[in-house]
Amino acid sequence: MNQSITLALSKGRIFEETLPLLKAAGIVVLDDPEKSRKLILATNQPHVRVLVVRATDVPTYVQYGGADLGITGRDTLLEHGNQGLYQPLDLQIAKCRISVAVRADFDYASAVRQGSRLRVATKYVAIAREFFASKGVHVDLIKLYGSMELAPLVGLADAIVDLVSTGNTLKANQLVEVERIMDISSRLVVNQAALKTKTQPLRDIINAFAGAVGQ
Ligand code: AMP
Repeated sequence: MNQSITLALSKGRIFEETLPLLKAAGIVVLDDPEKSRKLILATNQPHVRVLVVRATDVPTYVQYGGADLGITGRDTLLEHGNQGLYQPLDLQIAKCRISVAVRADFDYASAVRQGSRLRVATKYVAIAREFFASKGVHVDLIKLYGSMELAPLVGLADAIVDLVSTGNTLKANQLVEVERIMDISSRLVVNQAALKTKTQPLRDIINAFAGAVGQ
């Protein structure tokens, strides 16, 4: 008997870049989440379905068993913590970096040298806290949920910690990248209990993904 498998994905880049990996596992998603309003998408395999959730919710769905497995960025996992999550693969997709950026007219290096207290706006509070603590820089962290680039422009913060890919968004807002904190890519996460009860179908997917990413 085929055991049912539920995969949690977010729309956009991760979804697009996951399709070839699913194909390698013989799975074709039958709906386009950009066109459909459905949150549960069927696949060509009757026992495999895809949930469309927000990127930051993927670890939560997998941790509590709402999904057996999911794909999400290293940034999201570091913020969420990895309780109950098995992380077998770095899928090398949705690559970017997480960086510190400031207004072009802000002298970040001398602010750091002088031991100034910096106001930093970010969605990535845990990553930012750890990074600045490791540098011995005192910061007041301001949690935002989006459009971080705005904060230094209106005097809400001296710096932001955000994802950077091409750098075009920073440039368009007269911001400059002053530190690269870490490289980011998306990981496969699996519910540890599901791995025990649905070992074979999950192993088949993990192995197909591993083959497709050359690991
Ligand atoms: P870019 O202009 O190419 O540097 O992209 C920067 C914008 O896209 C920022 O608002 C980021 O939050 C977002 N971004 C870049 N890469 C990713 C990614 N891999 N996952 C999610 N958001 C991203």
